[in-house]
Amino acid sequence: MSWEQPAPELGSGERPNAAGMGLPGLKALVAGLGESPFRAGQLYQGLYRMRWTEWSAFTNLSKALRSRLEREVRLHWPAIQDSAPSQDGSTKHAFLLEDGAQVEGVHMPYGSRTTLCLSSQVGCAMGCTFCATGLMGIKRNLTPGEIAGQVVTMLNAHGHGPDEGVNLVFMGMGEPLHNLDHVMAAFALLTDPAGLNISPRRITLSTSGLVTGIQRLGGFKPRPRLALSLNATTDAYRSSIMPVNRAWNLEALARALDAFPLESGERITLEYVLLRGVTDALEDGRRLADFARRFPSKVNLIPFNPHEGSGFEPPTEARVGELCALLASRGVTVSVRRSRGQDVAGACGQLVKGANL
Ligand code: SF4
Repeated sequence: MSWEQPAPELGSGERPNAAGMGLPGLKALVAGLGESPFRAGQLYQGLYRMRWTEWSAFTNLSKALRSRLEREVRLHWPAIQDSAPSQDGSTKHAFLLEDGAQVEGVHMPYGSRTTLCLSSQVGCAMGCTFCATGLMGIKRNLTPGEIAGQVVTMLNAHGHGPDEGVNLVFMGMGEPLHNLDHVMAAFALLTDPAGLNISPRRITLSTSGLVTGIQRLGGFKPRPRLALSLNATTDAYRSSIMPVNRAWNLEALARALDAFPLESGERITLEYVLLRGVTDALEDGRRLADFARRFPSKVNLIPFNPHEGSGFEPPTEARVGELCALLASRGVTVSVRRSRGQDVAGACGQLVKGANL
């Protein structure tokens, strides 16, 4: 992993943004200021350990240096523009980026542990027909700072202390494997024990099935856990709702997942959205079990979250139970995701700029 946000030269007219820089970038930054390399570590600690968001808060630096940073270096994280709390305790946030683009993230507290859902792109190129973000098309990739910054901003907004365990899921806007270099640069910032210190095992990247990206991800160590948004058990139907399946069909996907290097005990999560009368037949359950048994996996059934204009309905509770029993009887580990944030359109496949805000 080598991506590093370039630090524009001081005096070039552009004030560089320190938010999102790793240690090498910060070292270049302090060298440009004529300061000791030691200051880079102090900046890093303030940015990622203390999560300070204004130069005036950097009390580990001299007043003179703080004033200089104020004049010459930006400290800009994604800012919360709007928040929509849900009755279930989760909150969907709309983040305003420096170029005026918006992305969304969701803060979901579950008992003592919180999960943050992150975006990796503005919009998405994958065009899944059930997904509100897919309707936007792709605008651009997020930078590492914009990805890690969603975490910094949400942790600060919800008053989380350092080292409070959180889970991160790349299930918001975008196909993370389409922006893998920046996602992995953000992953390095997020998991550094000297900084945000989030366990790599608590970070999950969900893909629509970009096989070349899956293969590349397998080469990183450490890396996030892998989840596949499967959603169909036949090529004909999967290709009709997820265009990526026309490039890599179910067989190609199963082979790529089988070849994905897993740690001991690690399993790939298969996410399967249940649409009444469309993907929730018992025959789907049998094909799903066959697919899941080809490599170490666990299946997460997701009863559909209705949203305006989707034209789909959620499955009956009875059918959800039948499918769980069928999968379990075939030796497949299965769970049912009760989507959070449903009433504010913050659940999987529903994130779109301005939706319901
Ligand atoms: S489901 Fe994911 S990959 Fe598909 S269009 Fe939506 S954001 Fe993109």
